[in-house]
Amino acid sequence: MKILVINCGSSSLKYQLIDSNTEEALASGICDRIGIDGELKYQPAGCEKNVTKVAIPNHEVAVKLLLEALTNEKNGVIKSLDEIQAVGHRVVHGGEKFSSSVIIDEEVLTQIEECVELAPIHNPSNIVGIKVIQNIMPGVPNVGVFDTAFHQTMPKKAYMYGLPLKYYDKYKIRRYGFHGTSHSFVSKRACEFCGLDPKNSKIIVCHLGGGASISAVLNGESIDTSMGLTPLEGMVMGTRCGNIDATIVEFLMSKENMTIEQVMDILNKKSGVLGITNGFSSDFRDLNDAAEAGDELADLAMEAFSYSAAKYIGGYIMSMHGVDAIVFTAGIGENDHIVRDKITSYFDYLGVEINPEVSKSRGKEVMLSTPDSKVKVCVIPTNEELAIARETVILVNNI
Ligand code: AMP
Repeated sequence: MKILVINCGSSSLKYQLIDSNTEEALASGICDRIGIDGELKYQPAGCEKNVTKVAIPNHEVAVKLLLEALTNEKNGVIKSLDEIQAVGHRVVHGGEKFSSSVIIDEEVLTQIEECVELAPIHNPSNIVGIKVIQNIMPGVPNVGVFDTAFHQTMPKKAYMYGLPLKYYDKYKIRRYGFHGTSHSFVSKRACEFCGLDPKNSKIIVCHLGGGASISAVLNGESIDTSMGLTPLEGMVMGTRCGNIDATIVEFLMSKENMTIEQVMDILNKKSGVLGITNGFSSDFRDLNDAAEAGDELADLAMEAFSYSAAKYIGGYIMSMHGVDAIVFTAGIGENDHIVRDKITSYFDYLGVEINPEVSKSRGKEVMLSTPDSKVKVCVIPTNEELAIARETVILVNNI
């Protein structure tokens, strides 16, 4: 089955065409700068990436362009659109309505629309993507795969904030968690890789990318995670502040004479390691290089990032009464051995031992811990698109 996977943002649309039999991407790319000017990136598997500057005024044009690229006589990977049997959509927020992926019908679309107030930046773009596909490819089933769904198994004690109950009752203000597709995919694969029974396992997944979140996965179910009502909560991230004293918001508004929107923009886009390095970079490759050259702020930013991750891991070991495996994934988790080493160094008391011969490994599945280590530590590359394609196939096969 050929599955088109769509990840629609406000000004970008990432896509992959996946053959579910081989689980390989036949082609992938991104329509970028939608509504600004426009750029189409298209890469058939094993070939060079094509980058075309082309006007992309809206998401409808973006979808038409990517479908044209996929079927293009010169370097397309399918002969006709009829070969696409289903479309899987990443949907950021499913609120409490969605604890698993679903076939999208009118009722589901309405429910996703009802979640817009919980994710006003992300969900509207996801909805646009779904509607455009419904228009252009009528009759092709669409599946919604939610970032929040995997964490719906969290117990109430983990997801309730210490706020007046009426705000949960009225507005469903609670911890939801994100990156669920990745936490689910990686924790399942980690069990296979480490030889653990998923039904009897204690896994901590560290999804460390531009956005970063940590989850505690007990017997295959998420029981806690670091992100909250929105992806702003949790550890120190690339540009997001993570947990801070809420009073800082009021303090900055009054001292700097800023609006709430300005403060929120700072907390989301100008904080994290970017903020700590005084605006230098949120990219860990830059931080690694700068720290090695003696830049103290870059080193401090990596230390703060790693320390905040370690505190969550430590907390989740307590939540699960132990841990079988600590798993690293996403851009930083898969590639940055300096950060991984900083984080794992906090767990030497647990008997964590890292094998120096593989500790610098990049971008591939690897057991980082020694055979004698009391806790397994490994890298499992995430593949959210493949996870979305798998979910889509399961649901479409059950129609
Ligand atoms: P993601 O959101 O998963 O795409 O991850 C993006 C983050 O991964 C950025 O902060 C990158 O700097 C970081 N990253 C990617 N490659 C490397 C690398 N080789 N070393 C360190 N960090 C990396």
